[in-house]
Amino acid sequence: MTARLIDGKALARDIESRAKERSDRLSELPNGRRPGLAVILVGEDSASCVYVRNKTRACERSGVTSHEFRLPAETTEAELIALVKKLNADPTIDGILVQLPLPKQINPETVIFTIDPSKDVDGFHMLSAGALLTGYPAGFRPCTPAGVMKMIEAAGCNPEGLEAVVVGRSNIVGKPQSIMLLEKNATVTIAHSRSKNLADITRRADILVAAAGRAKMITGDMVKPGAVVIDVGMNRDENGKLCGDVDQASVEPVAGALSPVPGGVGPMTIAMLIDNTLLSAERRLGSAR
Ligand code: NDP
Repeated sequence: MTARLIDGKALARDIESRAKERSDRLSELPNGRRPGLAVILVGEDSASCVYVRNKTRACERSGVTSHEFRLPAETTEAELIALVKKLNADPTIDGILVQLPLPKQINPETVIFTIDPSKDVDGFHMLSAGALLTGYPAGFRPCTPAGVMKMIEAAGCNPEGLEAVVVGRSNIVGKPQSIMLLEKNATVTIAHSRSKNLADITRRADILVAAAGRAKMITGDMVKPGAVVIDVGMNRDENGKLCGDVDQASVEPVAGALSPVPGGVGPMTIAMLIDNTLLSAERRLGSAR
């Protein structure tokens, strides 16, 4: 058996082209306009610069007006908060994204919690997290786990009644991922760095989401035959090449479906950011999907 590769790039382009149609509809409304996304980058972190460039390009493909704010690395927390508040009050801005990580003089939580929750398209605000946890239909879903759910669906897998294992428990990936799988009626286990006998846990998984940030840590012997394996990890291997948390060479012959790195979760994360921005604009302009 060889796992079917889940093409995140193709799925993402589908979502973006639907977003473009939605943006066209919004711009044709009386008093309508294109959705606006503000992206704030503080400092020159090279990975962050690449992410911001990719997000800007996705905006261009999707009919979203992107407003980029590049601030120097010495920016103070007060200056950043002042900018966020200004964008909160700007009626042409539907989404505000503060690219993480931030320089050490700035507390990321203070900044994220300043974002108007109705513009929190990254889904990192505690009100968005609370809405997800309680099943309240407001707020925004964090983009990476939301993209993973679309990929599981695209693999033809309905999580209901299945064993799902999420490796990683961060606030931006592992925790919201486990809630989204639970919402779809999977039986969910969250594994982390203190979990004992990780391979015994992962081998139970019909759906395995690897989000630990450890290059190629999930090997074929840790995977149940036929499982749907989604690789969130973005790491560099010993040769400096981009790789996931899944060792594709040993897992591909065992899994039923597998998302590759690159070309898997990465593009889907950006597509879900666009999707959230459209949703925000539709809410603001009073137009349902
Ligand atoms: P964090 O470092 O915040 O969290 C990593 C989690 O993995 C922690 O909960 C940690 O456990 C757990 N973990 C670490 N090592 C092990 C181990 N050996 N066994 C089991 N669990 C382990 O990372 P993020 O959640 O932010 O990101 C995870 C990965 O996903 C990274 O590679 C990141 O680059 C990537 N990523 C990719 C995105 C994309 O768009 N493709 C978006 C976001 C992230 P503990 O809590 O006990 O420390």
